[in-house]
Amino acid sequence: MPIKHLTAKMGAFPTIGKLRKGAARPTNGTGPGRDLEYFRLVTDDEHAATAFRDHYGDRPASVNIFLPFATPDHVFTTWMEDWKAGGLVHRCDGENVVVQLNQRGTYDRHPLGEGPPCPGGCTQVGRLAVVVPELQRLVALTVETHSKHDIIALTEQLRGYHALRGSLLGIPFILRRVQRQVSTPDPKAPGRRVRRVKWLLQLEPAPHWVAQQMIAMQAAALPALPSLPAPLTDRDLDRINEDLFGIPPDNGHTGSAGGAYDLNPLNEPDAEPEEIEPVDPFPAPEGAFSSPAAAWDWAVNVAAFVNPEEAKAAYSELRFQRKPADAAAMRDLWVTLCQARIGTVEMPA
Ligand SMILES: [Zn+2]
Repeated sequence: MPIKHLTAKMGAFPTIGKLRKGAARPTNGTGPGRDLEYFRLVTDDEHAATAFRDHYGDRPASVNIFLPFATPDHVFTTWMEDWKAGGLVHRCDGENVVVQLNQRGTYDRHPLGEGPPCPGGCTQVGRLAVVVPELQRLVALTVETHSKHDIIALTEQLRGYHALRGSLLGIPFILRRVQRQVSTPDPKAPGRRVRRVKWLLQLEPAPHWVAQQMIAMQAAALPALPSLPAPLTDRDLDRINEDLFGIPPDNGHTGSAGGAYDLNPLNEPDAEPEEIEPVDPFPAPEGAFSSPAAAWDWAVNVAAFVNPEEAKAAYSELRFQRKPADAAAMRDLWVTLCQARIGTVEMPA
């Protein structure tokens, strides 16, 4: 990075467009465009526009995102700003100006909290930097909102997830438009407020990630059995199989598409998920394993071996020593050996 003063302030990825909440500003009048119930991508990048449309269509109410920075302050910037005729007149923190258009048509900049007092006329704006994985490029988009409700809610949500993990990087989120009743000033009767329906932003981690976090939290709560899989419900397993491995549920349980539970950890008043029934997540087959490799994989899953190579070596040795009559007999020997290794049974001589 030879040009320090240029590169030091640059973000992780170039920003190529905006995901807007509203329609374009009407050409005949002033004021913002109509509030939309979906996201509208605005970009000059034709490839990005096409990739986005191919995946999401024209009116996506939710978008998969990653956040390109670790901390809420980097990911979500909020300012008070006054724009006139497409140009920024001033930006402030609500009290002191940080950027202000001067008489020469250039901008004066001031350190935070040290500029002149706000001259008024500004409104809040929040800008969330996001990476949309379906674009398959390391480029960022900005989600802009002028809603006080969005700014407060996003700030709280980002701080919550940051506190949970220590970093926002790598968490797959879903950003949604959700309908909410909000109270706003009545333009026809100053001093009064009216309730209106608005399409606000909601950020939540992807369900498959939440399921993994819950497993990790449960495992962490079982110090005596650190290497054993935590008990999972059938529905957890279906969800994980479907989300991670593309295996559809085969037993009538709903998968992740059902949205039957609210998996937002911030809404969860109790860290312990309800109704977790202990089940054996990796039962051995009734008869023979479908292949030796399936037997090794199962052994790794139940934590009898740390990797398939070790399992394979032990499997070969066991077969050589005991000389089982058939695959079913080999299966019984193998299951017993693995159970002995994880301490649930004694291996008979
Ligand atoms: Zn201001």
